[in-house]
Amino acid sequence: MNAQNIVVQKFGGSSVANLDCMKQVLRNVQKPLADGKKVIVVLSAMSGETNRLLGLVKQWSSTPDLAEVDSLVSTGEQVSIALFTMLLKDAGVKARSFLGFQIPIITDDFFSSARILRIDNKKIFKALETYDVLVVAGFQGCTEDGRITTLGRGGSDTSAVAIAAAINAEVCDIFTDVSGVYTTDPNITRKARKLDTVSYDEMLEMASMGAKVLQIRSVEFAKKYNVIIHVRSTFSDEQGTIVSQEDSQMESILVSGIAYDKDQARITLSHVPDKPGISAAIFTPIAEQGLLVDMIVQNLTETEFTDVTFTVPRSDVEKTLEILTSLKSTLEYQDLRSDANVCKVSIIGVGMRNHSGVAAKAFLALSDENINILMISTSEIKITCLIEDKYGELAVRTLHDTFKLDEMSYSNK
Ligand code: ADP
Ligand code: ASP
Ligand code: MG
Repeated sequence: MNAQNIVVQKFGGSSVANLDCMKQVLRNVQKPLADGKKVIVVLSAMSGETNRLLGLVKQWSSTPDLAEVDSLVSTGEQVSIALFTMLLKDAGVKARSFLGFQIPIITDDFFSSARILRIDNKKIFKALETYDVLVVAGFQGCTEDGRITTLGRGGSDTSAVAIAAAINAEVCDIFTDVSGVYTTDPNITRKARKLDTVSYDEMLEMASMGAKVLQIRSVEFAKKYNVIIHVRSTFSDEQGTIVSQEDSQMESILVSGIAYDKDQARITLSHVPDKPGISAAIFTPIAEQGLLVDMIVQNLTETEFTDVTFTVPRSDVEKTLEILTSLKSTLEYQDLRSDANVCKVSIIGVGMRNHSGVAAKAFLALSDENINILMISTSEIKITCLIEDKYGELAVRTLHDTFKLDEMSYSNK
């Protein structure tokens, strides 16, 4: 079967939240069908369901077995695909549902954040000879030896892009509750403007800095296999945002977006001996436990002691503190502190590669609002500031105004 005749569409939790929403999904699926195409539909769990299941885990166990957690939380998607396939069949469409293991989508065994290793496209092509629509459960896969895994929060995006890559589809449609990727979260400021195009690199930075509209791994997949992502609304026909390879027009835009991440905490080790190997001694045991450290700052001092500060996701603070407490005698630090009242605000744009002064402009704008910057980190196309949590939304709005992101122009230089 020719991949050009197959469309891959993913619908998120709010798009399958109830019967009315699912009927809207049905209309979106029927459009390519009417053009004679076959459709692979990837669905999330109904909104709130994954959180509900994770809530059960908390009630049942303080040290849950991660494989069993995945077995449980993956059920949300099973419900959506079965219900939606019923709707399709009632509408006279030849369709069937697939769980991850039935395809199979093979992953590693990092339960709760498994990575897709490969997808067998033979069964997909075979099934498309019989059915016009395959409805696949997002967010889940299975290990080589058949245990169910999940791909991390927001993982259905990755399921969809990976399937698109596996069948060589050119485009993967990601339908959601907003009309595309915006200059910042449209739920924070009304001035947020929908972007027509975003490069993979910008989207990677936006996703890793907290814009949850696409899971970061889905963008990594898309970039690696050159799949164009079209982020668009389930509830309107308007053209969304194309996420693709950078082009010269994109480069002329200095700042494309502002991302915002509340899920952050800061950890400080004070009075640590300033000697070779100390950073490795701190961060190796943390990495070995699979914890993700983001910003790191080590103070410059005149003495042989220093302070080391870094950030981790809020949910990992306890675990990180435990590890560092158990290493107190090795690391010889004086004090260990954590602060969860922080958030990260990032300015992202490929145009920054060729222009200076963005950081200075951003710092000035924040200081005009009396917002103190606690930590700073930069990459070629991103500047991130850690600030007090309570100023997060103000900072987003201030930076959005400073770089005139509400105006459609290529010259916010
Ligand atoms: P789905 O359930 O469809 O997967 P998500 O809730 O995971 O949807 O992602 C969509 C949400 O992402 C939007 O409702 C919006 O609040 C949020 N979001 C954050 N940053 C952005 C951005 N820059 N552009 C668009 N949406 C964003
Ligand atoms: N249902 C999963 C979650 O809530 C996966 C997804 O929606 O993409 O994280
Ligand atoms: Mg999502």
